[in-house]
Amino acid sequence: MSLREALTYLDGLGFDHLYRRSMPPEPAAQDSASSESEPAAQATEAGAGSLSIPEDPRSLFPPAEPEAALSPEVRLQRLDEVRRLSQGCRVCGLCERRQNVVFGSGNPDADLMFVGEGPGAEEDRQGLPFVGAAGELLTKIIGAIDLRRDQVYIANMVKCRPPNNRDPQPDEIAACRPYLDHQIDLVKPKVIVALGRVAAQALLQSNLSLGRLRGTWHEYRGSEVRATYHPAALLRYEKYKRPTWEDMKVVRDRIAAVRG
Ligand code: SF4
Repeated sequence: MSLREALTYLDGLGFDHLYRRSMPPEPAAQDSASSESEPAAQATEAGAGSLSIPEDPRSLFPPAEPEAALSPEVRLQRLDEVRRLSQGCRVCGLCERRQNVVFGSGNPDADLMFVGEGPGAEEDRQGLPFVGAAGELLTKIIGAIDLRRDQVYIANMVKCRPPNNRDPQPDEIAACRPYLDHQIDLVKPKVIVALGRVAAQALLQSNLSLGRLRGTWHEYRGSEVRATYHPAALLRYEKYKRPTWEDMKVVRDRIAAVRG
């Protein structure tokens, strides 16, 4: 695939922010030695730096039929295809220091999806979202609204860990958004809970404070969205536990209502 074809393809997926590495292009011999966990092709062009892309990812985003008509099995398969595409992703600079791409996990038929801002150190190490102390608390929160963790879907705005746990930057969030959008389109959750200010602002593309975004319903890609505090904030500040519980009761009731 030529660089022009690659850029056209990625643009079609919504990747309109591409990370350019300043290092010199790698030798051609290394380009052909890629594996599934690495980019299968590197396109280079004078003045364009180097851009790593999968060799032929066209078939990995094949929603030829309405997702609503897809069985959970097929949606799980599609999610796995998108996950495999993400494993070799080098579209933004967060690829440089990651140990693992933390794509997301959960039930492809979930009514409820949680979206955080990005992986932390433990998530980066294990390749799974929300597995540290904050993840344990999230599991308890899910249980408190009468669900199990394997009944929901969990993902982040960016799939690779920002260095030193800094907030993901707008260009990194924009670069990674197509993966999240495909996850949402395939899972089609009735309700999305955005965890924390960064995730809420990024998902809803808003500059409002978390305090302003909480307490009301929003919409994103056909799902209703509620913003609440990040579990890590609850671990640090007891005062956030009560409002988070109030938010989650609203979410629980909304899911029950739409299920009929
Ligand atoms: S954060 Fe997202 S866009 Fe950036 S390299 Fe990782 S998977 Fe690709």
